[in-house]
Amino acid sequence: MLNIGCHLSASKGFLHMGKEAVSIGANTFQFFTRNPRGFRAKELDTDDIAQFLVYSKDKHFAPIVAHAPYTLNGCSADPKIRQLATQTMKDDIRRMEYLPNNYYNFHPGSHVGQGVETGTNYIVTMLNSILTPEQTTTVLLETMAGKGSEIGRNFQELHTILEHVELKEKMGVCLDTCHVWDGGYDIVENLDKVLDEFDKTIGIEKLYAVHLNDSKNICGSHKDRHETIGNGCIGLETLVKVINHPQLKHLPFELETPNNLDGYAEEIRLLRGLYTW
Ligand code: FE
Ligand code: FE
Ligand code: ZN
Repeated sequence: MLNIGCHLSASKGFLHMGKEAVSIGANTFQFFTRNPRGFRAKELDTDDIAQFLVYSKDKHFAPIVAHAPYTLNGCSADPKIRQLATQTMKDDIRRMEYLPNNYYNFHPGSHVGQGVETGTNYIVTMLNSILTPEQTTTVLLETMAGKGSEIGRNFQELHTILEHVELKEKMGVCLDTCHVWDGGYDIVENLDKVLDEFDKTIGIEKLYAVHLNDSKNICGSHKDRHETIGNGCIGLETLVKVINHPQLKHLPFELETPNNLDGYAEEIRLLRGLYTW
C-alpha cells in the first residue's frame, strides 16, 4: 500500500489531524510542532494524544512526520539563536516521545556567511547535545534547495553532518523532490542515478521519508517554490516513478503542495491510482 499524506494544520490536535487525514485518503501526515515562523508551542494534550494513538493504530497509519519551525537555525552566527534552536529541538523531541517511533524533520539551517564547515560543526554540536539513546523518535535532515546559505544543498553536506553525530541510529534523511530538483539533481532524466548517488554518499537505508512536491522552477534554480503535482517542472510522470521506485515505494510520502484539503484529496486519489505493487 502507498503510504501517503500531506501537511496538515495542528491547531485542532492530533485526533483531528488523524481524522482529517483519513477523510482525504491519507494514512500519514506531517504537521508543525509549533508556530512555523516563531517558536511558540501549545500545551501537550495527553488525552488527545492517547485517542490519536488508538485511532492511528486502528487505521494502520504509517509513521507521521513532525516538522520543526522554519525559523529554527542551529548554525546561526548568533549564539542566542543557536541556543534557542537547541532548546526548541530538545523540547520538540521530548514532545514527540508521547507519540513513539515517529519522525522529526528539520532544515539543517543557514550558515549566514560563516561557511559550510563552521555551520556544519554547530549543527553537529547541537544534535550531539540533544539526542539520547532512549529516544524512539528518528530525527531527519531535510534535503535543501540551496537558497542563500542553506546547508544541505547536496547529499555530501548531509553526509558530513550524519557522520559526525554520535548516535547515528537516531538520525536519517527526508528527501524533498522539489528541493533536490531545485538543488540541481535531475530526477526527471536520471532518477536512478540520483538515488544511486544518494546511496553512495549517505546510504539509501538512511532515507526515512519523502516530501513529494512538484517545482515551479527549473532544475538547479535553487529557488524552493513548490507546485501542485503534475503542474510544475518535474511533472507527474517522474513523481509517479518516485512513488513506485523499488528503493522508495515503502516510505511515507508527504505532500507539501500549495493546496487546500480538497486539492490534497485529489492528489492522493490520483497518486494512489498510479501506484503499482
Ligand atoms: Fe521542510
Ligand atoms: Fe519539504
Ligand atoms: Zn520547500
